[in-house]
Amino acid sequence: MVLQETYTLTNGIKVPKLGLGTWQIPEGEQTYNAVMWALQNGYRHIDTALAYGNEASVGRAIKDSGIPREEIFVTTKLPAEHKGYKVAYECFEKSLTLLGLDYIDLYLIHAPWPWDKIGSDWTEGNMESWKAFEEIYDSGKAKAIGISNFEPKHIQPLLNGCKHVPMVNQISFHIGNRQEEIVDFCRPLNIKIMAYSPLATGRIIDNKVIVAMAEKYSVTAAQICIRYCLQKDTIVIPKSTKEERIISNAEVDFEISKDDMNKLDQI
Ligand code: NAP
Repeated sequence: MVLQETYTLTNGIKVPKLGLGTWQIPEGEQTYNAVMWALQNGYRHIDTALAYGNEASVGRAIKDSGIPREEIFVTTKLPAEHKGYKVAYECFEKSLTLLGLDYIDLYLIHAPWPWDKIGSDWTEGNMESWKAFEEIYDSGKAKAIGISNFEPKHIQPLLNGCKHVPMVNQISFHIGNRQEEIVDFCRPLNIKIMAYSPLATGRIIDNKVIVAMAEKYSVTAAQICIRYCLQKDTIVIPKSTKEERIISNAEVDFEISKDDMNKLDQI
C-alpha cells in the first residue's frame, strides 16, 4: 500500500512517499479536519509552511490524532521572504511553537527568492539561511533539511560552501511539467525530488488524454496524476480539503504501463 511506502534520504531518514499538502487551506477547522482525515485514513506525511498560516491547526490535528509523533513526518518551510542566519532560527522556532512539536522532520527554504521578487539573486541570504539549517539539523531539531523551488543555479552556491548537501528539493512537478533540468541536476547529488502541485493545483484533471487514461485503468484522473509522480520516483503531496478525495488520492496501488507513461510524457 502506497501510504505505507517510504523513500530513504541520504542520511537514512525515511519519508512516506505520499503526503497531504495544505497550501491554501485556511487555519482553523478546515486545516484541522483535512489533516485529521488524512491521518485517520493512513497518511503519515503532512506538508505545511509558516507562510500557509495553518501550522497551529496542523499541530493540533497531529496531537489529537493520538498517533505517536515518531510515526508522522512533518515538513515545514522558512518563508521565501526571510533570508539570513538569525531570521532562519527565529522562523524555525516559530514553526515549532505553532506546530506544538519539539522537532521537524524536514525543514525547507521555501524559495530561492521572495515571491514578489522572483528571479532576483539572493545567493548570500540563502547561504546564510543554510548555515542555520545545518546547525538546526546537527542539533537534531530537524531530521532532514532541504530546499524548494531551487534551480541548479541556486543549488550550486550552496554546494560550494556547505557541510550538508540538501536532502530534498520540493518543486512544482506534474504531468506536463517534468522539470528535467532540475531533476537531472539533483539525481546524482541524491537530492530527493518532492513533487508539489501534482494535480497542477487542479488544472490538469480535465485534460483529455489524462481523462481517457483514467477510464482505461478504471481510476480517477487525479489518481493518474499522483501515480505518474510516484512512477517518476518523486515524493508526492496532493492537497484536498475533502475526505473522499483525501482517501481516493492515496488509492494509487496500480501501475501505469511504460507505453502509457510515455504518452503522459508527451503532454
Ligand atoms: P494540487 O495538490 O496539485 O491540487 C489541489 C487542487 O486539486 C485543489 O483545488 C483540490 O480541491 C483539487 N483536488 C484534490 N484532489 C482532487 C480530486 N481527487 N479530484 C478533483 N480535484 C481534486 O495543488 P497544490 O495545493 O498546488 O499542491 C499540493 C501541495 O504542494 C500544497 O498544498 C503544498 O503543500 C505544496 N506546495 C508547495 C509549494 C512550494 O512553493 N513549495 C507550492 C505549491 C504547493 P479540494 O481541496 O476542493 O479537493
